[in-house]
Amino acid sequence: MCALCRRPVDKALRLAPDGRPHPLSPEVDEIIPVSRGGSPYERANVQLAHRRCNQRKGNRMPGDRVKTTRLPLPVSQQW
Ligand SMILES: [Zn+2]
Repeated sequence: MCALCRRPVDKALRLAPDGRPHPLSPEVDEIIPVSRGGSPYERANVQLAHRRCNQRKGNRMPGDRVKTTRLPLPVSQQW
């Protein structure tokens, strides 16, 4: 489950049809961003997130407002 939008993450999803990483593919999200001193290796500081949600979150800290829009959730079998 995505820690940012609380929707399921399809771990098999990698590439979109255009060959770029799929916006809903799984990514590791640092809870405290590395650029703000968080550790990318500490298990307590990482969580599963959609690539799209992670990029939208950017450098924000926990508690900052994260805006998500609803996209239809594709399943990997369709790709
Ligand atoms: Zn998400």
